[in-house]
Amino acid sequence: MKLHWKILIGMGAGVLVGLIVNEEFVVGGPIGRVLESLSFIRSWAILLILPVLGPVGTIFITLLKMLIVPLILASMVLGVARVGDIRKLGGLGRRTFLFYILTTFASVLVGLIVVNVIRPGAGAPELAGSVPEAARRTTGLWDVVLNMIPSNPVEAMANMDILPIIFFALFMGAVLTMIGNRAKPLIDLFDSLNEVMMKMAEIVIKLTPYGVFALLATVVAETGPSIFANLGKYMLTVLIGLAIHAVITLPLVLRFFGGVNPRQYFAKVTPALTTAFSTASSSATLPLTIESVEERAGINKRVSSFVLPIGATINMDGTALYESVAAVFIAQVYGIDLSFGQQVLVFLTATLAAVGAAGIPSAGLVTMAVVLNAVGLPLEGIGMILAVDRILDMCRTTVNVWGDTIGCAVVSRLEKEPVPESIRA
Ligand code: ASP
Repeated sequence: MKLHWKILIGMGAGVLVGLIVNEEFVVGGPIGRVLESLSFIRSWAILLILPVLGPVGTIFITLLKMLIVPLILASMVLGVARVGDIRKLGGLGRRTFLFYILTTFASVLVGLIVVNVIRPGAGAPELAGSVPEAARRTTGLWDVVLNMIPSNPVEAMANMDILPIIFFALFMGAVLTMIGNRAKPLIDLFDSLNEVMMKMAEIVIKLTPYGVFALLATVVAETGPSIFANLGKYMLTVLIGLAIHAVITLPLVLRFFGGVNPRQYFAKVTPALTTAFSTASSSATLPLTIESVEERAGINKRVSSFVLPIGATINMDGTALYESVAAVFIAQVYGIDLSFGQQVLVFLTATLAAVGAAGIPSAGLVTMAVVLNAVGLPLEGIGMILAVDRILDMCRTTVNVWGDTIGCAVVSRLEKEPVPESIRA
């Protein structure tokens, strides 16, 4: 059976087990009666399954994370060194950056339109909730920029600070192209490291169906359906926005600028998308994103090894959209009318907050402090939407990764690389 089918079955089974185990989940009718009669399974499941599934999910994420630092280092250094001529890198960098920023803008715009039309916060009750400590510590935008340069690259690697690692790798790759023959041993070393990491990724990827099963079962079991009651309209607003961006905007861009058939491309990158959904982490998904785009879709490696690691860290369309919706929602709940100027500020800061968010779960929730601070909204608003963050995180991370893979295809075309036959539009 094909990997993506196995993964989808794993996801479905995970949701099912999670629902059965979740205490709040009650359905009426015949299905309810069947579930009722299975309640002994439910008690056994709570006792036996959950304590095992939690760690299984964690093992899967940890295995993926284990690959990230060496993979990013090797693939970025090579990505730059392979370009050969630094002037060409300028073109690749500009196109990548332009694609990322324009699509992020588009997604924030969709978010702002949707939240202003639906007005999910109007008349909604104020909810109490705790604000994560990290959000209180998040301050200015300069922090984002300053934190990009590592004072100690080894420390950055040890802490898995991705942006500083990318900065170091870019710099190193660029210098490798300047010193000619003497760089050869190191380039060969990175080449071999890259091959090994990709092989390791391939092996870990075989575990994906089981990993996503465990992760989803745990999430669903822990989040009962009652969270929908108060925040349902807000969630729906975010989801509609994400859907518009993922199903309309991005595929159109892919089709017209990338010359790629969106449906076929979607099938190729499904393993990455489902993993993004289950792990809520772009960084943890990166090994699968690279393998899906390079091996399954056949996009040029010179482009992907540059575009994807950067994308996993700074290109977050879903997060940007979510931040804009959440900020306006919070304002609506508090009865604060945001002026047009303030909404423009939300537009800009949501983009930057998404760039600054790390590719890890809940990162977007934390950097939302930047947006709220900018327009003078209380940080307590973050506490209000905390309860549904995980589910929305899973959805926005999927859109983040979908945006990265599309960026890769489009930039590859703009770099005059041929579009692989199997995905050509
Ligand atoms: N979890 C998201 C990601 O990894 C970031 C966020 O929005 O929290 O892409």
